[in-house]
Amino acid sequence: MRELATELAIVGAGPAGLAAAEIALRHGMPVCLIDDNPAPGGQIWRGGQAGAAMAGHPKLRLLTATRVVAAPAPNCLLLESADGASQLSYHRLLLANGARERLLPFPGWTLPGVTGAGGLQALVKSGLDVRGKKVIIAGSGPLLLATALSLKAAGAQVIQLAEQASLASVSRFALHLWHWPGKLTQALMLGWQLQQVPYAMNTHVRAALGNDRLQAVRLRRGDEEIELACDWLAVGYGLLPNLELARALGCKTHHGVVEVDHVMRTSRRDVFAAGELTGIGGVDKAQLEGRIAGLLIIGEYDRAVALAKRRRRWLRFAAALEQHFSLQPAIAQLASADTVVCRCEDVRFGRLAKCGSWREAKLHTRCGMGPCQGRLCGAACETLFGWQNAGSRPPVFPARLDTLAGNPSTAEVT
Ligand SMILES: Cc1cc2nc3c(=O)[nH]c(=O)nc-3n(C[C@H](O)[C@H](O)[C@H](O)COP(=O)(O)OP(=O)(O)OC[C@H]3O[C@@H](n4cnc5c(N)ncnc54)[C@H](O)[C@@H]3O)c2cc1C
Repeated sequence: MRELATELAIVGAGPAGLAAAEIALRHGMPVCLIDDNPAPGGQIWRGGQAGAAMAGHPKLRLLTATRVVAAPAPNCLLLESADGASQLSYHRLLLANGARERLLPFPGWTLPGVTGAGGLQALVKSGLDVRGKKVIIAGSGPLLLATALSLKAAGAQVIQLAEQASLASVSRFALHLWHWPGKLTQALMLGWQLQQVPYAMNTHVRAALGNDRLQAVRLRRGDEEIELACDWLAVGYGLLPNLELARALGCKTHHGVVEVDHVMRTSRRDVFAAGELTGIGGVDKAQLEGRIAGLLIIGEYDRAVALAKRRRRWLRFAAALEQHFSLQPAIAQLASADTVVCRCEDVRFGRLAKCGSWREAKLHTRCGMGPCQGRLCGAACETLFGWQNAGSRPPVFPARLDTLAGNPSTAEVT
């Protein structure tokens, strides 16, 4: 196994990780930046020119298409890529590994043609041709609008945007946006660019209909149900921080986010966290937190504290997002007995409803024990049944046997 060493390891080359890396490199600190995507940029920029200014910096080791799969020993990460496995030892670690979409089951959600909202956006950014296709985008939160815009720009016909939150709630959120002028401008531009797209509040997907592929969607809008024919349905209920690695490292989490102090220190010495991991608040919060962490890591405590004052504003934005786009109870009651909840192990809602806890469900049905290790169904079960899935076992991502075999401490627990 390849042995690597660095002063600062950063997991995640999104806005948070890149902001921290830039500060550390400018200071002359060796940085190893790891991301499982083929290019830096994270979920929002997905490659493009992100990180271009740093490319080729002599102190930067950029490991793209590389995944951190475990933390087998103190100050050590186990990495996997197509070229093989490596062990990276570090002095300091910044976790900036972002968030994923919350997907919740409803009848028909596993049909081909049904994706996550950000998922369809990502497919389009990777080249999926949606020209002329009829698309419905549903779920909750501002990501639906960003997805609609990307799809429209790619030539799709977005025939319905369905937001589960009430009109009153979304209006209150919009009325508060003047506290964050950049977000207000962005919202006004989105509203202008999407003015032809029907945007319904208090509306959610009841079922995706079709035999071998999606043909139509049944929507519940207030008290009425409507059916619309379409080619694609993209549904996402906001974002959830990727906590597995932080938990594997022993960092404290609370209410679904990594606990950090005002300068982004976690409960573990020499481990810092920034971006969506500390609360879903968007790109500005992620960049600011990355900068704060970067400054602290290079020893600029006073500058980090000064910058941390600006963070409060973005924490209020994160709280407003959470409050105004919180899920209505009906969203947790969409699955029927034969709706698949755990896609990896094909476990249906009816079997899970007989269990009393996440642990019992795992033992009796194998829910959450497939390749995704509960990444999707764990969050779904938390919403559907209120089960907590706080545990995390190495490897945090599915890994090849040769990666694990070269690392006895991981192999033992797998
Ligand atoms: C699917 C999706 C689509 C989005 N689309 C938009 C949009 O259009 N507009 C918008 O304003 N916001 C969008 N967002 C939100 C936006 O991406 C975030 O606000 C912002 O990118 C947060 O930055 P970050 O640095 O915290 O995390 P991210 O940008 O998510 O970066 C984290 C990076 O870490 C990598 N990573 C995670 N785990 C590992 C691991 N174990 N090993 C190696 N690498 C790892 C990820 O692949 C990712 O590249 C989207 C989010 C998602 C999940």
